[in-house]
Amino acid sequence: MTNALRSQFPILTPGLAYLDSAATAQMPLAVLDAVRSFETTSRANVKRGVHRLAEAATDAYAAARRDVAAYLGVPASEIVFTSGCTAALNLVAHSFGALMKPGDAVLLSGLEHHSNLVPWQMLTARSGIELRFLDVDADGRIDLSGLESKLDARVKLVSLAHVSNVTGAVLDVAAVVAAASEVGARVLLDGAQRAPHGPLDLKALGVDFYAFGGHKVFAPHGVGVLWARAELLDAMPPFLGGGEMIAQVELTHSTWAAAPAKFEAGTPPIGAAIGLGAACRWLGALPWADIAANEQHLCQRLLDGLGATPGVRVLGPQSLQARVPVVSFALEGAHPHDICQIMDSAGVALRGGHHCAQPLHKRFDLAGTTRASLALYSDDSDIDAFFAGLAKARKILL
Ligand code: PMP
Repeated sequence: MTNALRSQFPILTPGLAYLDSAATAQMPLAVLDAVRSFETTSRANVKRGVHRLAEAATDAYAAARRDVAAYLGVPASEIVFTSGCTAALNLVAHSFGALMKPGDAVLLSGLEHHSNLVPWQMLTARSGIELRFLDVDADGRIDLSGLESKLDARVKLVSLAHVSNVTGAVLDVAAVVAAASEVGARVLLDGAQRAPHGPLDLKALGVDFYAFGGHKVFAPHGVGVLWARAELLDAMPPFLGGGEMIAQVELTHSTWAAAPAKFEAGTPPIGAAIGLGAACRWLGALPWADIAANEQHLCQRLLDGLGATPGVRVLGPQSLQARVPVVSFALEGAHPHDICQIMDSAGVALRGGHHCAQPLHKRFDLAGTTRASLALYSDDSDIDAFFAGLAKARKILL
C-alpha cells in the first residue's frame, strides 16, 4: 500500500527507501515552509529588539514554544529549547546534578544511548555521585525486576530511554514511576525514539523530565526540547551562562532570569525552533490510529522476513507488543558496514554500527548491528526494497 503522507516529503523520491529515520527523520513541506517563511520574512535575533523584524522573530519564537507545549500537554513556561536531545540530557546532568550530594545515586540501564550515559559518568567524576544500572533482558528490554533492589532513598534520579534506539523496546513507564515515587526519586525519560511515533501526554506519563531532539520528529537539526516540572526548573541552577539568561549582571556576580530563559543562554536556534513548532502543529493533526497500524504492519513484515532469513539474529522484541518499528539485526558472517554499503547501492538507506549504544551491544556479544528504522511516511515499497537489498547483500557477502 502506498502511503498518502509521502507526497508531503520532497526528499522521498522514487528509488530511495529511507530506513534511517531513527537517526534523522525527513521534513514535511509544512515544516520546510515554516522555516523558509521565517528566514525570508522575519529573520532577526529574538528579544530586546525594537524593530519590526526583531519583534516578528520574538513573537514567532514564543509561538513555537507554545505549539511544542500544546503538543506535549504542558505549560509553555516548562519548555526549554536546547540544541538537541544530547544537550537536554547534559543540562539535567549539570543543573539537577548540582543539587545532588556525594553518595546520592542515579539509576540508569544497560541499553542507554551514550547521551544518557556519558553525562552521568562526567557528573560522577565531578561530584562522587554513584551510578547504578538496570540490566537488559534477552528481548532487549530494560529488566524492571531489578527496580526494587536498585532503588533506595539514595537514588535521586532514574534516567531511562523511553524507547531503545537499537531494540525498539518501549519502557513500562508506569512501573518505573510507581517504583521511583516510593523512594522519592525523580524520573527523566530520554524520549528521542518515542517522540516520532505519536502524541505524548507528559503529565499523564507522570515523569519529571522529558528530553528529545527536533530532527527525529520531522523538524530541523540543531534544536531540542527539555521539559521539566516548573518547581524543578526553579530549583535548578543554570548550566550555561551568557546573554538572555540573566536578570541583572554586575562585574563580579549576576542574578538569573526565570525559567525557561534561565536555561537558554545566548542566541537560540530560532529558525529551527520555529520549524519544531510547525512540526508539532502538523503532528498534532495527523491520523495517528492509521499511522500506528501502518507502522505495525511494516514492522511485522520486517520481523517476519528477518526471522525467515538464515543467519539473522534480531536484537529486540520479536513481537509488536510495546515496540516501535526500529529493528536491528546481526547477519552471521557479514559486517554491518558491508551490508549497509551494498544496501545503499540498492537504494536502501540503513545504519550500521553500535548506534551509540556500545554497552548494549556488548551485552549481546556483538560489536555492532544493522538497523532499519521506519517512520510515518514508510510504506510497503520500502520493505520490498529492503528485502531485495538484503538478498543482494547475502549473495555478495556470504
Ligand atoms: N537518545 C537516543 C535514544 C537517541 O536515539 C539519540 C539519537 N541517536 C539521542 C539520545 C541523541 O540525540 P541527538 O544526537 O539528536 O542529540
